[in-house]
Amino acid sequence: MQINLKGISIVVLGGDARSLAMMEDLTASGAVVNAAGMPADVIPAGVHYFSEPEACLAGAGAVILPVPGMSEKGYLHSPLAAQPLAFTEDLAARFPPGIPVFVGVAGPALAKIAANSGLRLIELMKMNEVAILNSIPTAEGAVQMAMEMLPITIHGSCAFVLGFGRTGATLARLLGSMGARTMVAARRPEYLARITELNLTPVPFADMPHYLDEADVIFNTVPVPVLTGEVLEKVHPGTLIIDLASAPGGVDFQRAESIGVKAVLAPGLPGKVAPKTAGRILAKVVIRLLHEEMAGN
Ligand code: NAP
Repeated sequence: MQINLKGISIVVLGGDARSLAMMEDLTASGAVVNAAGMPADVIPAGVHYFSEPEACLAGAGAVILPVPGMSEKGYLHSPLAAQPLAFTEDLAARFPPGIPVFVGVAGPALAKIAANSGLRLIELMKMNEVAILNSIPTAEGAVQMAMEMLPITIHGSCAFVLGFGRTGATLARLLGSMGARTMVAARRPEYLARITELNLTPVPFADMPHYLDEADVIFNTVPVPVLTGEVLEKVHPGTLIIDLASAPGGVDFQRAESIGVKAVLAPGLPGKVAPKTAGRILAKVVIRLLHEEMAGN
C-alpha cells in the first residue's frame, strides 16, 4: 500500500540526480514538493520551482538537503546548478522550528550550522535500513569497476572481501553468485560462520595477510587502515585493490603504487552508478518517517 503524505509540504534544497528521484517519489506520495537550488528545467513534473529558497520555506513540514550535505566552504552539494546554493545560519533560521531536516551525511560545517540553529537533523546514511539497501548499488558498482579494470572475468577469479558488515556481506554474496572464488575476512566468529554458510571462504581477520597473495582482486570495506605498507608487501603486483571504505580509506595508496599494485578509492558508488535507485531508497525511508510523524508516532 502506498503511503499518503497529502497535506505536507516538503522543501528540497540543492541536490543531485538522487534528489530528483526523491522528489518524484515524494510527489507521487501526495506531498507538495517545493525545490530551490536546482535548475528549473531538471525538476520533475509536479514539483514547484523557486528561484529563492526563502520563498518556499514558510509552512514547510520537512526540508531535504543534498545527500552529501554541504561543502566546508558553505555551499549545498548541487552539481546540476550553475551556482550552488549557499547554506547559512540566516537561511537555517527561516526553517519552521522543530521540522525534520533530512541529509545523507552531515560534515562538520553543516553539523555546526545545525547545532547553532537548533535544526533537527536526520542523517539518513547512518540508518541501518538505508545502509543495507545502499549496499546493493555499492556492490554492483564495485563489481562493475572490477570488470572494467581486470583483464579476467569475475567468474573463475579469486576475490577477497575485507569486512563483512552491510557492504561486505552484500558484495561477497554477489561475487560468490557470479562464480568468483570468494574469500571474506571478518573478526567476529558469527560472521565467519555465516560466511561458511554462504559457501564462501571465511578468513579470520588476523590471518588476512597470509591469504592476500591468492587474490586477483581485493575489495576493502573496513574503514580503518588495514592494507598498510607492511601488509601490502604480501600482495602480488597485478592484483587490483578497490577500496570502498570512506575517505581516507583503508589502503596505503602511496605504498601500493610504489610496489606496482593498482589500488583505487571508490567513494559514493550508489550516487554514481544508480542515482535513481539511490534516491528511491532514501525517498522510501523519508516517506515512512514523515508518515509516522504525521500519525503522531
Ligand atoms: P559496517 O556495516 O559498519 O561494516 C564495517 C566492517 O568493518 C565490519 O565488518 C567491521 O567488523 C569491520 N571492521 C571495523 N573495524 C575493523 C578493524 N579494526 N579490523 C577489522 N575489521 C573491522 O559498514 P558498511 O556500511 O559496510 O560500510 C563500510 C565502509 O564503506 C564505510 O566506510 C562506509 O562509509 C563505506 N561505504 C562506501 C560506499 C561507497 O560507495 N564506496 C557505500 C556505502 C558505504 P566488526 O563487525 O567486527 O566491527
